[in-house]
Amino acid sequence: MRTRLFSALTLLATALPCTPALSVAQRAGSAIPTPASVIGFAPGTDRKLPQWNQVVAYFHALEKASPRIQVHTLGKTTLGRPFLAAYIADSATIANLAHYRGIQRLLSDPRLTTPSQVTKLQVDGKLVILVTSSIHSTEVGGILTPMVLAQKLVGDEDDNTRSIRRNTIVILVPSLNPDGVDIVHDWYASSMGTAWEGSGPPVLYHHYTGHDDNRDWYAFTQVETQMVIDSLYSQWHPAIVNDIHQQGSSGTRLFIPPYMDPIEPNIDPILMAGVAQMGKAMTWRLTSDGFVGIANNTSYDAWTPARAYQHYHGAIRILTETASADLASPITVSFDSLRPGYNVDPKKTGVDFLTKWNGGRWTIGDIVRYQTAATMALLTEGAADHAEWVRTYSQVEHNAVMGNRAPGREDWPATIVIPAEAARDTAINAALGILQRGQVEVRRATSAFSADGKQFPSGSYLIYTAQPYAAFAKALLEDQHYPNLFEYPGGPPKRPYDVTAQTLPLLYGFNVSFVRDSVTAASTPLAPVRAIPWVAKGLSNSKARRIAMFQNWAPSMDQGWTQWVFDQYHVPYTMITAKDIRAGNLSSRFDAIVLPDQNARQIANGPRGNYPDSLKGGLGADGAKALAAFVDAGGTLVAFNSASNYAIEALSLPVKNVLADVRPKDFYAPGSLFKVEFDRANPLAAGMTAPTPAVWFEGSPAFEVTDPSRATIVARYPAQGDPLLSGWLLGADRINGKAAMVDVKQGKGHVVLFGFRPQYRAQSMSTYPLVWNALR
Ligand SMILES: [Zn+2]
Repeated sequence: MRTRLFSALTLLATALPCTPALSVAQRAGSAIPTPASVIGFAPGTDRKLPQWNQVVAYFHALEKASPRIQVHTLGKTTLGRPFLAAYIADSATIANLAHYRGIQRLLSDPRLTTPSQVTKLQVDGKLVILVTSSIHSTEVGGILTPMVLAQKLVGDEDDNTRSIRRNTIVILVPSLNPDGVDIVHDWYASSMGTAWEGSGPPVLYHHYTGHDDNRDWYAFTQVETQMVIDSLYSQWHPAIVNDIHQQGSSGTRLFIPPYMDPIEPNIDPILMAGVAQMGKAMTWRLTSDGFVGIANNTSYDAWTPARAYQHYHGAIRILTETASADLASPITVSFDSLRPGYNVDPKKTGVDFLTKWNGGRWTIGDIVRYQTAATMALLTEGAADHAEWVRTYSQVEHNAVMGNRAPGREDWPATIVIPAEAARDTAINAALGILQRGQVEVRRATSAFSADGKQFPSGSYLIYTAQPYAAFAKALLEDQHYPNLFEYPGGPPKRPYDVTAQTLPLLYGFNVSFVRDSVTAASTPLAPVRAIPWVAKGLSNSKARRIAMFQNWAPSMDQGWTQWVFDQYHVPYTMITAKDIRAGNLSSRFDAIVLPDQNARQIANGPRGNYPDSLKGGLGADGAKALAAFVDAGGTLVAFNSASNYAIEALSLPVKNVLADVRPKDFYAPGSLFKVEFDRANPLAAGMTAPTPAVWFEGSPAFEVTDPSRATIVARYPAQGDPLLSGWLLGADRINGKAAMVDVKQGKGHVVLFGFRPQYRAQSMSTYPLVWNALR
């Protein structure tokens, strides 16, 4: 076994992808530069934000000055900026990163070692901690704090910082969305001294996803997500991840886990106990250092892998959320105006909120101070107890490879089977790509077989649940059963932090089976599958249809996701603004117009609050008139989800949203998958091949047609029974028999109303054909 261990380390050592580091000699003797000496101001100065190239310059200046940091460029962002990760530790550790990466690889997969080797590796290894920041670009402290942290970690000589450098490897990603750093910087600079200083930019701060960029951690659609998964998680298998965020201004000053219920059931309990241990240790250290207003166990749950890849890959995720100012402009918050959240009221102390903040001025300096201290508390705790953190980390992976012999997993299947089906190749291929990128080993059955009394064809895909990241596969392939949670008995539903379902077989449209039997297959996992190109017949790479998409200056994330899907399929489109639509004469320019998901008021009125005159206003009365004229003249208007409410109202369509005035207490579905029945004779439903037709319902309308001579139902919810397939639904009877998709004739054209999100976060692939049908 010794030889095997040695060769595994050697192999890994040669495979480390990195940019050439400067030699120690090149870096000796330089003083550690301050951020101010490079970016021109101290991080935390009122009204000052850096550009991305300044942040990059600072990290390179640090690298030049010290052998304790190595800066890697992982690749290019969506808009072409360099994406950075900085490794910080003792110079001896930094000089041997490949060696430590090899140890971490072995600790992350107990199948590669014996128990005695693991014990030795736990002593020899370092605690690998990934710190990621600034995925949400308006949370601007997140772009300043990493520079402060890097300077401290590289340069400070106190015992605590030395212990961090000696016992850990900190991988610091200064921004998970570098494009957004400049989008926000430029907008903020242009707004300085105006009435809209400190407001959010009028465009998405990630080109395709906006704020949803941290909901991509299982679909891996964006290049930024892919770089972090491929170059950091899959190479380094971190044990602790600190993700730096900001929350609103009017609550607590800082959220630190534990998370509030519910916890997604496939997460190893060691990790959730570790989250609580680390979160409380941070709270303890910060409180003793005089920080006030810190909350635990509120607002943020641990339900979806979309935000918490770590929880399925051996790491604890420590989200921190510091209260915001107006970007970098200071604000004043009175104590009386502070508002409660779940479990915590910032005006009252309690077990999850030990000290109050008395209100007053709140600045970018406060944000940087809180964020820096919180991360230092995490690193201090990690370094102080590093051996125990490494030991429990390897225990998580030990449990993982035990599969259903591990405690608490007795009811797990031994094998998850995706039956081979030629008709569903594209969907299966896309799902396999996700699983493999998430380090799941997939095998292929070499012959037909039966398991649990079911027959499966040769070539079926097998996922054994005794493997390091089986929980990731299981969480993505099974249906979710979100618990019925209420604010109080008889009260409204307790809002989850995000959506409640992530079932790939329903989102993509393929079959899956969970079997108790262990199925024998080829012994080696499949090499990564090659993606099958996505094609929309008659639309991909075609100018036959002139398609426009509405871009509101109150940005809609669904608009960005729609652009991403169109771009993947190479379907050309033109972005048009409210001004373009209000100007009318649309049919001379376009055949079809898409209204992405957004609430009707925002579409009609545009951005709220102070904005320059050139950006003010939505479609208004003139826009509604222009759209009606466009449809009358033969155009196609396509409305996604809530935008359907706008179309119904603005064009006076013979359709009613039956959920318009229903209270959450009586009907609630915050992001779930529902069963629907399609009218298979309707050409708009062509190409729907999913074995269980499912639609993504998220604050959606459900329709009743008031004039059947003009409006045709394309899809409807079952007349009886619960339409819920995965996630959460209260009040199923409200939508029984109601329409989910309607085609309305108007003049020479028509309006297609989607009562769901057919291209939800670029994940609901099974319903993409409906979008293409509507546009053809
Ligand atoms: Zn955030």
